[in-house]
Amino acid sequence: MTKEIEILKELVNDSDNIVFFGGAGVSTESGIPDFRSQDGLYNQEYEYPPEVMLSHSFFIEHPKEFYNFYKNKLLNKSVKPNQAHTSLAKLEGAGKLKAIITQNIDGLHQMAGSKNVIELHGSTLHNYCTDCRKPHGIEAIKKADIPICECGSVIRPDVVLYEESLDTNLLVQSVEYISQADMLIVGGTSLSVYPAAGLIDYYQGDRLVLINNSETPYDVMANLIIRESIGTVLGSVT
Ligand code: ZN
Repeated sequence: MTKEIEILKELVNDSDNIVFFGGAGVSTESGIPDFRSQDGLYNQEYEYPPEVMLSHSFFIEHPKEFYNFYKNKLLNKSVKPNQAHTSLAKLEGAGKLKAIITQNIDGLHQMAGSKNVIELHGSTLHNYCTDCRKPHGIEAIKKADIPICECGSVIRPDVVLYEESLDTNLLVQSVEYISQADMLIVGGTSLSVYPAAGLIDYYQGDRLVLINNSETPYDVMANLIIRESIGTVLGSVT
């Protein structure tokens, strides 16, 4: 075990109001591609760039192409939580971790057993009618080229598309958790994309831990930096 992981274990032992903030790197170890990494979605061949195909206007104008791309790329077939997810669920169960704030839309934290998960970008597991707002399960999305509600309107995924803004209530909740946390663990994010960076600024403690493969603008503020697999790191804490 590396020295950094020893220190991390001590910090976790001494804390009882831990908040975890996670990005795509948490899910890549479950086989879900990182949007922005070298071999992530952004660099794969498609008729339009992913940030166009996953935009609000593209969904409105080309729902069939939107859903074709969405189902192929974002509805992950048989992915399972990894050690990072299961360890965080254990920390919550032990009463140490109060909230997970995630930029991922795959629902893997809940699948691992976590209860208090703030999904800033929504979830592919939830969908709703654009007109009557009725919720629809994932099967409704899978079975049709363009999923249609009983009322006749198009169903959309409950995920934040490009050109759309984040839910203000979720941001407010996130700020509350982060500002009250005694320990903030940030993992699998380069902290370069809104709103991640802005949220970290609300942390007031002295146990800021960054677990990421590459440098982040927040490295100078961190009390501990670990450059290893997040699954391995968190897995060795619980
Ligand atoms: Zn409807």
